[in-house]
Amino acid sequence: MTDKITPIKRKPMVAGNWKMNNTTAEAAALAKDLIRLLVNIKGVDVVICPPFTALATVGAGISGTNIGLGAQNMHWEKSGAFTGEVSAAMLRDLYCHYVILGHSERRTLFGETDEVVNRKTKAALASNLHPIVCIGETLAQRKDGKTEEIIGSQCRNSFKELDAANFSNMILAYEPVWAIGTGMTATPQQAQDVHRLIRQLVQEQTDEKTALSVRILYGGSVKANNAVELFRQPDIDGGLIGGAALDADSFAAIVNAALPSTI
Ligand code: PEP
Repeated sequence: MTDKITPIKRKPMVAGNWKMNNTTAEAAALAKDLIRLLVNIKGVDVVICPPFTALATVGAGISGTNIGLGAQNMHWEKSGAFTGEVSAAMLRDLYCHYVILGHSERRTLFGETDEVVNRKTKAALASNLHPIVCIGETLAQRKDGKTEEIIGSQCRNSFKELDAANFSNMILAYEPVWAIGTGMTATPQQAQDVHRLIRQLVQEQTDEKTALSVRILYGGSVKANNAVELFRQPDIDGGLIGGAALDADSFAAIVNAALPSTI
C-alpha cells in the first residue's frame, strides 16, 4: 500500500459516464446489475451518470442504495427559452446529486469554453448539485510541452471566483483528451504529476486544507486491469469511467480497485 502524502483522508469516488448510451430499459437493467454487484461497497462513493432520458428510471431503481445519481451536463440558466437544455433544478427534481461539467466531448464537439464551464459550475453549486468538473490537455498540447500551461489556464478560468466553500462541494476530474475512449491511458506518474499540479492550483486559489480535501478523479481509458496502479497515486482519488462503465462487471471491478483496502 502506498501512503497518501496528505494528512487528510479523501474518500475515493468512482463515477460512471454512460454518455449517449442505453435506452431506459437497458439503463434500468445495468443499474440493477450494479446494485447487486456493489451492495456491500462502503469505502468508495459510487456515482452513475446515465443520459437525461434514463435519469428518472435509474434514479428510482437506485433509490435507497449506496449508488448516487449524476447527469452529464446542464445549462447555467434557471429556466427560459433554451431549447433542448436542462436546468439544475430539473436535475434536482430527479434526485440527481452530481453533474459532470466541461467533459472534453462537450468542449470539443459542442464548443463549451472555460467561461461556460465556470457559469455552469456556479449554477450547479447554487442548486446544491456537486459538479464533477473535467479538465485535460490534447495530445498535441502534451507533445508541445504545454500540459502545465493548458491545465493552469483551464483551472484558472473554469474555477474563476470559486472559493473554499465551493471547492468543498466539487469534484475535479483530470481527463487527458488523448486518453478518452482511445485505450491510451496516462501512466500513473503522468496522471499523478497533473493531479498534483491541479491540487497546487486549488491551493493557490483557496487554502491548503481545501486543496488537500478536494477529490481529483482520473479519467481516460481506465479499466479493471490498470485502475489499481492509477488509484494508488497519492493525489488520485478515484476515477471517471466512460467505456468500462457500460459493463456492470468491469465497472464493479474498477470500484473495487478504488477501495482503500485494495490500494
Ligand atoms: C470519459 O468519457 O469520461 C472517459 C474517461 O471515457 P473512457 O473511460 O472511455 O476513456
